[in-house]
Amino acid sequence: MPELEVIIGLEVHAQMSTKTKMFCGCDNDAFGKKPNTTVCPICMGHPGTLPTPNATAIEKAIKASLAIQCSINMSNHFDRKHYFYPDLPMGFQISQYDFPLSSKGTVTYDVFDPSGNVVESKVCGITRLHMENDAGKLTHKGSTTLCDYNRAGTPLMEIVTEPDLRSAQDAVSFAQELRRILIAVDASEADMFKGMMRFDASISLREKGTEKLNPRSEIKNLNSFKSLERALQYEEKRLRKRWETDGPLPGDITVGWLDDEGKTKMLRNKETADDYRYFPEPDIPPIEFKQKDIDAIAKTLPKLPRELKEEYMKLGLDEKQSLQLIDQSQLQTMFNALREKTDAKRASSLVLTQLLGFLNAADKEVAEGPDADAMLELVGKIDDGTISGNAGKDVLEKMVNTGKNASTIIEEEGMQQISDDSAIEDLVTKAMEANPKAIEDFKAGKEAALGAIVGFVMKESKGQADPKKVNEILRKNLKN
Ligand SMILES: [Zn+2]
Repeated sequence: MPELEVIIGLEVHAQMSTKTKMFCGCDNDAFGKKPNTTVCPICMGHPGTLPTPNATAIEKAIKASLAIQCSINMSNHFDRKHYFYPDLPMGFQISQYDFPLSSKGTVTYDVFDPSGNVVESKVCGITRLHMENDAGKLTHKGSTTLCDYNRAGTPLMEIVTEPDLRSAQDAVSFAQELRRILIAVDASEADMFKGMMRFDASISLREKGTEKLNPRSEIKNLNSFKSLERALQYEEKRLRKRWETDGPLPGDITVGWLDDEGKTKMLRNKETADDYRYFPEPDIPPIEFKQKDIDAIAKTLPKLPRELKEEYMKLGLDEKQSLQLIDQSQLQTMFNALREKTDAKRASSLVLTQLLGFLNAADKEVAEGPDADAMLELVGKIDDGTISGNAGKDVLEKMVNTGKNASTIIEEEGMQQISDDSAIEDLVTKAMEANPKAIEDFKAGKEAALGAIVGFVMKESKGQADPKKVNEILRKNLKN
């Protein structure tokens, strides 16, 4: 058997984060809304209506294009892509065919080992990015089918890659990096649970060392990283087995992924562009950009995830911590706010170790926990000596569990730190009387023996004595 190489390419659909739909003024946030309530004659495809392109959607698609290093095609236009489907009331989709918004880009992505360390950085070519509108949604119940058109007309970006990916792991790592980029430039929320990012994955095999691409199997509509990975792993195995007896596929095929059964199912032989009867959309004039408009949009691009990751790692965070901040914008906001008050190590310990730990233990999402202001208040209480750093941990845990702020908890629980000299003086005297052996050891040169005395004071004061003051007073007393 010759050694085989896996060839994978992706088509990624990402819903753009606009207020209104691609070609009408309907609400673009249909999540959780009653079926068929965010629709109008335009997105329902009624005769005589005219689509008007959403300028914000185009701007967001340009931002995404620039972030994945694509060249913007200064002249581009919309096309009609014809196919019949009950959730497509117009009988065609408005998409872009031979003149897409942008083309020829690259995305650099990291491949990780199971413990989260980078094994390798790779590059995947981007063929094109084009804009289109989404179809509605069908729900099959027994022998009836229900249509919900709320999603019809939602603005989508379709990003098509070159066949540069060589394993299911490559595909997932690439897709995760692409998601980070789309979120960073505010082009899409890319919320996988809400179906805002979906993949079609094409896979084929060829003998290693050869250049020709064999017919491929396209797996449609994968809506999580897990199913993308599992479906590709399954299909690779199936194609390898087939190769042993019959060689490569005789022609392109389209398959579906059955998540519950963990296997793919043949849907049809793949349609070609000819089947779609593309022609330029006559109701929307061609789009002509000016270079200065593109330059102005380029100036608004924020730092991209790879750049941010490098910055976080320079601050001493590790790979995993940096990605946690990049992947969860609320944590990032919190970390950045704390960084203004304290060093990176302490900020990451507060946010990524303590806060995330307490949230996990309470089975809560980041959004349900304290926000950046609440964390800043807590840090303020530690830094001004109201509570010790250790008591700060308890306060944070209570903040997560009760939703109360730091000062309320400190007040209610009487957690203020004792920094009154005479009170500490008394505690230290008591501790010295109770630990004569430790004092003897200290005087004999054992510096560590003091730990027992400080520990006694902390225990007596239920952790509320200021340890710095305790140390000071203890040393002063020992000198006398
Ligand atoms: Zn509408």
